[in-house]
Amino acid sequence: MVGAGQLARMTQQAAIGLGVELTVLAESESDPAVLAGARCRLGSPDSLEALRGLARQCDVITFDHEGVEPGHLEALQAEGFEVGPPAAAKLLAQDKLHARRTLSELGVPVPVFAAATTIEEIEQFAAEHGWPVVAKAPRGGYDGRGVWMLQDRRQAVEVVDSAAGGSLLLEPMLDIEREIAVIVARSASGETVVYPVVETVQRDAMCREIIAPAPVGKGLADKAIQLAGRLAERIGSTGVMAVELFVTPDRLIVNELALRPHNSGHYSIEGCVTSQFEQHLRAVLGLPLGPTELTAPAVVTVNVVGTEAGEPSGRLAQALTVPGAHVHLYGKSSRPGRKLGHVTVCGTEPGPTREAARAAADALEGLTP
Ligand code: ADP
Repeated sequence: MVGAGQLARMTQQAAIGLGVELTVLAESESDPAVLAGARCRLGSPDSLEALRGLARQCDVITFDHEGVEPGHLEALQAEGFEVGPPAAAKLLAQDKLHARRTLSELGVPVPVFAAATTIEEIEQFAAEHGWPVVAKAPRGGYDGRGVWMLQDRRQAVEVVDSAAGGSLLLEPMLDIEREIAVIVARSASGETVVYPVVETVQRDAMCREIIAPAPVGKGLADKAIQLAGRLAERIGSTGVMAVELFVTPDRLIVNELALRPHNSGHYSIEGCVTSQFEQHLRAVLGLPLGPTELTAPAVVTVNVVGTEAGEPSGRLAQALTVPGAHVHLYGKSSRPGRKLGHVTVCGTEPGPTREAARAAADALEGLTP
C-alpha cells in the first residue's frame, strides 16, 4: 500500500485477520500503519524508484491516498506490475476536472462545471451562474483544502494568482440538502458489492460524522446504490471506491470519487458484516467479496479532530465510559483541525446512537469537562 496513514493502519488491522502481509510505502517509521505493525519500506510516493521497489515486493500495489503521480502508475502497469485500482480509474480520484469530464461523458449527473485559468473566465462563469462561484484545485486538495467559495472578483483574483496559471474547476454554489456517500467494492475478477447509503455531515468542509443508514427515502438510496455499482463497472475500478454525492432539491449529483478506503466507510468496521478495509484487501487480491449489510439498525461514526486540548489518548478513559463506544485512535500527533481518530456506536435508534458517538468523540477532543 502506498501511504501509511490511518487508512493503511486500519487496512493493516484487517490484513492481520486474513493473514495477508501488508507492506506500506511510508514517509517515516512513525507513520500510523508502521506503528500498527505493517512491514515498512521508507520512500516517497513521488519517486518512481520507490514505487517500483514496493511493487517488486508485492503481489498487488494499492493506495491509502490519491497523492501519487499518475504517470508513475502508468509506468508500473507498463512494466507488468499489478496496480489496484488501475491507473486510468485511479485518475478519476486524482484529478477533479478529469473526473467531471469523464463522468459527464458517461452520463453520470455531475454539477455544472467549467475549467478556468483567467479572471475573465471566472467572471464569465459568474455572469452565467451568479456569485458565489465555487473554485477547486483539480489536484491535491482534501478536507476542503483546495476548495474556495469565491464571493466576488477580488477573491477570484487571489485564487487565480495562487493557482499560478494552473486550471481551476468552477462550479455554481449548489443548494445542498444533504451529502451522502456510498462505498462500492469491485474485485479484480469483476465481482461488485455495494454498501448501504450513509449521510456525511461536514463542518468547515471536513467530514465530521457518518450516519448509517442515511435518512433518505428508499427511492433515492436505491438510485445512489445503482449508480455506484454501475460506475465501478464502467470505470473498471478494483478495490473499494467511495462515491460522494450531493442531494439537491431536484437532483442527485456525484461530487467526488475516492478509489481507496474512505472516511465515509469507517463505520463499516463495526457497523457492517465486512469492513471496507477487509473488503479492499479481498477485492484487490481477487478474493471473494463479503456481505455488506449493517450489523445494527443505526450506526454512527464521529471523527475525533485535534483541538487546543492536545493528544486525545489521555482522555481515553473518559470516552470509554460511553457504553458501546468503539474508539479508534490513529497514533498521529495532535494538531488543531487534524483527524486523529474516530468513534463508532452501533445502536437501535439514530438519535441516541449519534449522541453516544458524539459524547465519546467530544471527550477525546477535550470538549467535555
Ligand atoms: P474535498 O476534496 O476537499 O473533500 P469537495 O469537492 O468534496 O473537496 O468539497 C468539500 C466540501 O465543500 C463538500 O463536502 C461540500 O460541503 C462543499 N462543496 C463542494 N462543492 C460545492 C458546491 N459546488 N456547492 C456548494 N458546496 C460545495
